[in-house]
Amino acid sequence: MRVSHATPAIVLRSWPFGESDRIVSFLTESHGKLTGIAKGAKRSKRRFVNSLEPFSFVNLRFQDGVHSSLAFILGCELQKSYKNLIASLDKIAVAFYCVEITEGLIAEREENRLVFKHLKQSLSYLESQETSLTFLIGFELKLLRLAGYQPFLDSCRRCGVNRPRLPGPIPTSQMRWHFSLRDGGILCESCCGLRKEILPMSCEALDLMIDLQQEQNLQSINLTLPVLKQMRAIVLRFIQFQMDKEIKSASFLYQFSA
Ligand SMILES: [Zn+2]
Repeated sequence: MRVSHATPAIVLRSWPFGESDRIVSFLTESHGKLTGIAKGAKRSKRRFVNSLEPFSFVNLRFQDGVHSSLAFILGCELQKSYKNLIASLDKIAVAFYCVEITEGLIAEREENRLVFKHLKQSLSYLESQETSLTFLIGFELKLLRLAGYQPFLDSCRRCGVNRPRLPGPIPTSQMRWHFSLRDGGILCESCCGLRKEILPMSCEALDLMIDLQQEQNLQSINLTLPVLKQMRAIVLRFIQFQMDKEIKSASFLYQFSA
C-alpha cells in the first residue's frame, strides 16, 4: 500500500489535463516543489473547493505516483486565499513573477523550508500592502540567498582582488567591475576579458546590491532609481541564467518604476 503524505503547501500553477483532471504544481513545506494530478478536479468541486487556484495556501494530502514523478493528489483543503491580492492586477503580476522565479530556482522534491516561508510571507505581504520595486528586489535577493545562489560581491571571482569601498585605499570610481553570470559574482577589469557573458556594473550599483544583501530593512536604504534599475536588470539576468529559461511573467513588471 502506498504511503500518504500531508503537508502545508502553496499552489504555484495549475492547468487542465484531459476531460476532467488538473495538473497542479505546489511548493510544499516538507517535500519541496511537487507536481501532482487532481483526478476529477473539474467535476468534483466539493473535493477541491477553490483550492487549486494559484497562490492558495492549502493543506495537501498526496501519494507518490507508481510509474511517474507525478503525485496523486488525495485532497487539498484551502487554508487561506489572498482575496486582496487577487483583486489587484498589479499584485497578481508581481505574485506570478515571485512564484515563477521560486519555481525556477528550486529543484523538484528538494525540501527547503526557508524558501517556503519566504514565499508564504511575501504573498501575505502582498495581501496587505502595496507592491513596490523595493519589495521586488528584497524578494529576489533573499530568494537567491535561500536557494543557494547569492551573488558573490566581495572580490573578483577569478583572481580574488578585493573590491575596496570608499574611503578605502583606491577610490571605487577608479575601479571598473563587471558581473559574470557564469561565475555568479563580480570580475575585475583584468579578468573580465576571459568571459563573454558579462554585464558592466557601476560601483554605485555594486555598493547598492551589497547594502541590499546585508540590510533586512530595505526601507531604510536610500534608493536612487537609475542605480536601482541597473542593479535589478543584472539580478533579473542572473535569475534567468540560473533558471536557464525565459521568465515569462517578468515582462508584466516593467510598469513598476518605484
Ligand atoms: Zn580579477
